[in-house]
Amino acid sequence: MTADLATMTGIDAPTGLLIGGEWSTGKSGVLPVLNPATEDVLAEVADASPQDALEAVGAAAAALPAWSATAPRQRAECLRRAYELMTGRAEQLARLMVLENGKALRDARGEILYAAEFFRWYAEEAVRIDGHLSTAPSGANRIMVLRQPVGVSYMITPWNFPAAMATRKIGPALAAGCTVVLKPAKETPLSALAVAAILAEAGVPDGVVNVVPTNKPGPMTEAVLADPRVRKLSFTGSTEVGRMLLKQAADYVTNCSMELGGNAPFLVFDDADVDAAVDGAVLAKMRNGGEACTAANRFYVHEKVADEFSAKLSARLAGLKVGPGLEEGVDLGPLVNADTRAKVSDLVDSATGDGAKVLTGGHAPDRAGYFYQPTVLDGVPPAAGILSEEIFGPVAPIVRFSDPQEAIALANDTEYGLVSYLYCGDLARALRTAEALEAGMVGINRGVVSDPAAPFGGVKQSGLGREGAHEGLLEYTETKYLAVDW
Ligand code: NAD
Repeated sequence: MTADLATMTGIDAPTGLLIGGEWSTGKSGVLPVLNPATEDVLAEVADASPQDALEAVGAAAAALPAWSATAPRQRAECLRRAYELMTGRAEQLARLMVLENGKALRDARGEILYAAEFFRWYAEEAVRIDGHLSTAPSGANRIMVLRQPVGVSYMITPWNFPAAMATRKIGPALAAGCTVVLKPAKETPLSALAVAAILAEAGVPDGVVNVVPTNKPGPMTEAVLADPRVRKLSFTGSTEVGRMLLKQAADYVTNCSMELGGNAPFLVFDDADVDAAVDGAVLAKMRNGGEACTAANRFYVHEKVADEFSAKLSARLAGLKVGPGLEEGVDLGPLVNADTRAKVSDLVDSATGDGAKVLTGGHAPDRAGYFYQPTVLDGVPPAAGILSEEIFGPVAPIVRFSDPQEAIALANDTEYGLVSYLYCGDLARALRTAEALEAGMVGINRGVVSDPAAPFGGVKQSGLGREGAHEGLLEYTETKYLAVDW
């Protein structure tokens, strides 16, 4: 199976556990990885046990003193080499990602470059970790503040961005001088293992990055969090699992960063450039086939422009080519698995039951693979159930509004607060609205917000902390204050 994988991707993708610089088969059998476009087994990856994960923690703890004492420039150069290796192999890595995740090759190529950028950005940040010095107000002493690495960091990543969610955590951790145990999602371990192999090739010492895919994340995580050598949990995934992990981490007061679910509103005001809004909507909705925490999930469109917006958006989505992600020209691959497709299909049925009208799509095509047609639903009532769920698929529900204040209130009427999108002609009005939107990020006349140099993260139940930018580095540091008299 892996021979086929090598032929299909052009790289020899590792399938073992990586612990202390050694690739091994682990102690609890194998984990099958499916190709969502065919529903066939693509590869078998070693399935780590809690004991394997504790060995990985041991390796990370043993590597920590030397890595945290390594010159920042040297840590930076490892990350920079990893960036170059990743971009040099972007095509092969993108193909590997398509095979395990399903996304269209164009999306996978975009993700590999985005993922590699975190290594480049944090190579630059590694040499800019500063502290500060001031005089106590009483004048009695100096206040000296240092930033030190938080220590062994346990990372849990989702399947939807299997490379970028790993590099967005590993990049800042390594820059700060931390060591890592990464548990990728069981659906997409191959991309994470390939990233780890690149880091090793780039000169990252043994034990600094360990990877333990598993079929049973619960018992592994309980064991890892209970180990006092683990000082940091960085999780990206659903709010439901994040909430549970925060409760577990509370027992050990583990430092936590949480990137959780979203329910992004996309507002189109009456003075918006409708063509630009449609372009932005296609990006915000269809990037990664809608399987993104940042995916526009609810479209609130002013009634004056709603007919034009919905007609143009459905024409664009109806024109997308659906098929296996590796086929050139395909815009939309399959969803990741059968459960995800069933959820999308149930949400569309519930919306039509609530009175929504299907403008395009609304069903799964009759073929193997977890495909779902790009779908636009118009006239969705503001109280429809689909608007309070993360759809995670290629479905755009449109709600029409007449009062912008009411649209802002509807946009904020959710426990989530990751990102909001706004199309508006008057920039002052757009900025005022952006201030009123309860979200960690706002795209103004833009359908994509992600950027390694920008602080990514949510408010409310979308998370705690930020990834990317200088803020992302600080998540892997502890502040130490020295009271100094001289
Ligand atoms: P998920 O929460 O089911 O899984 C995420 C990760 O958690 C996986 O690695 C999974 O194996 C692990 N996990 C599941 N149960 C666990 C447990 N009991 N203990 C420890 N780990 C456990 O989410 P998913 O379906 O894989 O990913 C989609 C979700 O991720 C969506 O809600 C999406 O919005 C969110 N997401 C958020 C961001 C962000 O930056 N805010 C980015 C990407 C995805």
